[in-house]
Amino acid sequence: MDMVMTGRRWVAKQLRKAGLDEDTAQWESRILVEKAMGFTKNQYLPTTTTMTQEQQDTLIQLTSRRCDGEPLQYLCGEWEFFGISFSVGEGVLIPRQDTETLVEAVLRLRRGQNSTALLDLCSGSGCIPIAIAKHLPAVQGDCVELSADAFGYLRQNLERYDVPITPWQSDVFTPPETLFQRRYDVITCNPPYLTAANMQNLQREVQFEPAMALDGGTDGLAFYRRLIPQWKTCLKVGGWLVTEVGQGQAAQVAAIMKQADLRQCHTETDLCGVERVVLGQLA
Ligand code: GLN
Repeated sequence: MDMVMTGRRWVAKQLRKAGLDEDTAQWESRILVEKAMGFTKNQYLPTTTTMTQEQQDTLIQLTSRRCDGEPLQYLCGEWEFFGISFSVGEGVLIPRQDTETLVEAVLRLRRGQNSTALLDLCSGSGCIPIAIAKHLPAVQGDCVELSADAFGYLRQNLERYDVPITPWQSDVFTPPETLFQRRYDVITCNPPYLTAANMQNLQREVQFEPAMALDGGTDGLAFYRRLIPQWKTCLKVGGWLVTEVGQGQAAQVAAIMKQADLRQCHTETDLCGVERVVLGQLA
């Protein structure tokens, strides 16, 4: 397998043996070969290109890790979200397409505004605040992440895109007092929301992701119950709290928002037709 073509065929075969379907195996084989050769996605890599011994060794290693279930995104070290490439790796939740629905909802809310004060809770890689900041004028604010591993990626991504959002390494339930003094136009959050049953039944790749970013307690709603009443006080009058939710949780989260006196509670649907985002406004 000293050529890209033979390398890809070999990788695809291993991935199929490990249980991936044909299309996915083909697609991932291309990405893994590109990664092993240090190519970026936007370059064309001719299939007749020769691979050095070192590149072949790297490819063998990457393939074996992938066959053991490690997510492709961690092996690449980068993943695209909302058209932006984020550094990711073990210890941080991989940005998902579902979450683009939340970003789009915020862009619609803030269209035409000159500036936006934004707070993002449970930030992970920082994909939400960075995508928002890249698409709205004069976004500034704060974001909060507890995990030391995730915080490293968060800081790296904020620096990489030069976004004026300050990262705070803290529990969202016991934040630095200064944060509570601030007032925001928008507070976003994609908290852990999987149920105890979901946690027992994770897809193989998801088992490599931090449980801390996934586990939302017995019914998955533990974070919403505490976060919503606690942080709504940091909204400006007219400001919006915007949260991602798991499948089937929208009505319950909207009820928690109403109970916390937020108004205009409504939901947004993702590309799969799942009610994925719940919004509420401080009147
Ligand atoms: N969407 C993730 C999953 O289903 C869960 C992320 C979260 O809990 N916020 O794997």
